[in-house]
Amino acid sequence: MTEPFLRVKDLHVHFPTDDGVVKAVDGLTFDLEKGKTLGIVGESGSGKSVTSLAIMGLHRGTRAQLSGEVLLDNQDLLKVSDEELRGMRGRKMAMIFQDPLSAMHPYYTIGQQLTEAIQVHEKVAKASARTKVIDMLGRVGIPNPQRRVDQYPHEFSGGMRQRAMIAMALINDPELLIADEPTTALDVTVQAQILDLMRGLQDEFGSAIIMITHDLGVVAEIADDVLVMYGGKCVEYSGLDDAFHRPDHPYTWGLLTSMPRLDRVKSERLVPVAGNPPSLINVPPGCAFHPRCTFREFAGIDCAAAVPELAESYPDHLSRCHIAPAKRAELFTEQIAPKL
Ligand code: SF4
Repeated sequence: MTEPFLRVKDLHVHFPTDDGVVKAVDGLTFDLEKGKTLGIVGESGSGKSVTSLAIMGLHRGTRAQLSGEVLLDNQDLLKVSDEELRGMRGRKMAMIFQDPLSAMHPYYTIGQQLTEAIQVHEKVAKASARTKVIDMLGRVGIPNPQRRVDQYPHEFSGGMRQRAMIAMALINDPELLIADEPTTALDVTVQAQILDLMRGLQDEFGSAIIMITHDLGVVAEIADDVLVMYGGKCVEYSGLDDAFHRPDHPYTWGLLTSMPRLDRVKSERLVPVAGNPPSLINVPPGCAFHPRCTFREFAGIDCAAAVPELAESYPDHLSRCHIAPAKRAELFTEQIAPKL
């Protein structure tokens, strides 16, 4: 069996604050093979973005306390030197951030920034790097790339900046691409183009992709596996088919039933998961989802008293709930499936 390209083992990311320790990621474990896409899903504050920053080593120099292992191609990213890490960014791994301004330098043109990104990893003449940049800008849907390549980030609209940042992440054909809500600000046509580009990257270079999103529609489009996070922990982890056809956790059920559907009439309001995401300083005891869960009566024990283990409910399908798997399957079939 081949080793997964990325192996995250028991990752914890905690932030000490004056009010207490924020347990943003609390014991996360997952694997990702080359050529595969993992969708990480959850509401804001669930720990998904903090996880991606931890993989990229972007908590270094902050107050964050990290433990566990992040093995990329058998190298522990939590232990490599800053210099090694910098050398890996771009070609070995790249990230598309939610906020394009944070990833672009205001004083350099888009073309200068992308050309430099190429030249850090490749001995290539400026002219041919520029040709590659113009081609990539065109591929992410920036009109008139020959002209726009010489503009500064502030001359781009928000959507165009987002595309330029996607171009920057893709320009070195990274072996691991982490995309954090990459298409949220884009219209559906561009969104489809970007997802196509990612698939192309994967087909051509066998890249591994982590797609972080709250949008299950995007996950359905692109993921092979799905990991649902709640309160800094994984609550469900399965293949794509299981995630949509036999989801096994009450929180996942809530996400799925709140998903917009094209065949629903506009006046029919979406039902979000009722209640608020938990405080990561005072995480509710037991199952962190218990204050919002409407299925607690089926657990047979007090859900506030014990943290449920992440356990296999189907082959290669893990979930974290006190309700017996057979009962959950029954509840899904009777109460949730008819709403999907
Ligand atoms: Fe709901 Fe209890 Fe299962 Fe948590 S453990 S999801 S509170 S039933």
